[in-house]
Amino acid sequence: MTEAWRPGPHDRRVGIGWDSHRLVEGRPFILGGIEIDSPLGLDGHSDADVLAHAITDAILGAAGLGDIGEHFPDTDQAFKGADSIELLRTALAHVADLGWTIDNVDSTVVAERPKLGPSKRAIQERLAEVLGVPVHAVGVKASTGEGLGFVGRGEGVAALAVAQLKGAVA
Ligand code: MG
Repeated sequence: MTEAWRPGPHDRRVGIGWDSHRLVEGRPFILGGIEIDSPLGLDGHSDADVLAHAITDAILGAAGLGDIGEHFPDTDQAFKGADSIELLRTALAHVADLGWTIDNVDSTVVAERPKLGPSKRAIQERLAEVLGVPVHAVGVKASTGEGLGFVGRGEGVAALAVAQLKGAVA
């Protein structure tokens, strides 16, 4: 893990996060803490919330706190079936301890199916509550793979996120 750094009130840092998970039968489809009706779900050691993972990595990266795998190893049985929103909350607590707050988060989920449009607002509201920011400070965008690659073939779902942190005012 890289050395973390304590911000002053005018400091800003951005971080990026990327994740992907396989689509399989017999698993729930959880995205940004919201369960979406889908015949296929996301496979993984935790609940495989690909969007929560990308956002967690973006936040950790912005604060110089390494990546999600260092904090929550998928070899650790403690995180088997874990609620990824709780992992995100833990990461938020780490960055808050250093003196950071969230300025904004933006994200794109790339999925051929299920269609995410009807769920975007609910995901945005859920993430805003978890991140402790207004709804307008959380972007949740949906894209498809246009038939290309593992996303386009419907084999998996990917998510990309950026987070900007700002130094908390003492
Ligand atoms: Mg993941």
